[in-house]
Amino acid sequence: MDSVNGTELILGKQDVSPVHEHNPAGRSPFLLTCDHYGRLIPRPLGDLGLPAEELTRHIAWDVGIAGVAEALSNHLDAHLIAQRYSRLVIDCNRPPHAASSIPLISEATTISGNEGLSRQVTEARQQAIFDPYHERIDEIIDRRLHEGLPTVLVSLHSFTPVYAGIARPWHIGTLYHRDTVLPPLLLKSLRAEGDLVVGDNEPYAVSDETDYTIPVHGERRGLMNTGIEIRQDLISDQAGEKSWADRLARILAEVETTLRAERWLG
Ligand SMILES: [Zn+2]
Repeated sequence: MDSVNGTELILGKQDVSPVHEHNPAGRSPFLLTCDHYGRLIPRPLGDLGLPAEELTRHIAWDVGIAGVAEALSNHLDAHLIAQRYSRLVIDCNRPPHAASSIPLISEATTISGNEGLSRQVTEARQQAIFDPYHERIDEIIDRRLHEGLPTVLVSLHSFTPVYAGIARPWHIGTLYHRDTVLPPLLLKSLRAEGDLVVGDNEPYAVSDETDYTIPVHGERRGLMNTGIEIRQDLISDQAGEKSWADRLARILAEVETTLRAERWLG
């Protein structure tokens, strides 16, 4: 095993860094994260025992969110930090000790490449992918605090319109736990659009057991925060991605104006 850590067991020489940053000089108070941005599989892991159609659908990544996140980052002048590898390799929004961190089954698909992994191998995946991503978010938050830049964490996700046979009615949802300021403002603005079915902690709620980015980088660091989930059929092409990025940019600008007026941003 490598003397520093086991990352070379996971990422081969041709594999890119898990960390993708867009608009790193962005001055917006909104810091955008995207845990399920990509669906790359490190070369040494092959296809995880899955056919191509499984590796392109929602179990592998958050379909459509990459385009929305980058366009939103451009609109808002916001720093986006995103993770390029599939959540089937390791889920960057799960505590590493959670059973779903390296899933054995996702929806109804068995991930044979994740069966019978040794502790060394699971820790190597964490060290190669999970740790660099979350360490970079930490560094960025530290740097912003040092520079006196207000920071509001917005964690971007997308959800499948049908899960395990159940249709989901929401177009968009806010996800939150302990923040009592930002999620109500965002919900109010989303509902004011008039044409949206808005989920309030739907299709998921945030918890310490099932989430990582919001509890660790938002709540523990005392940052205002929310998750945003967009239904994947609405952002399945470039026109959809653009339209949702435009809409969210307008809404988050309104939210920022309110936060500044109410002196939440210093
Ligand atoms: Zn996600």
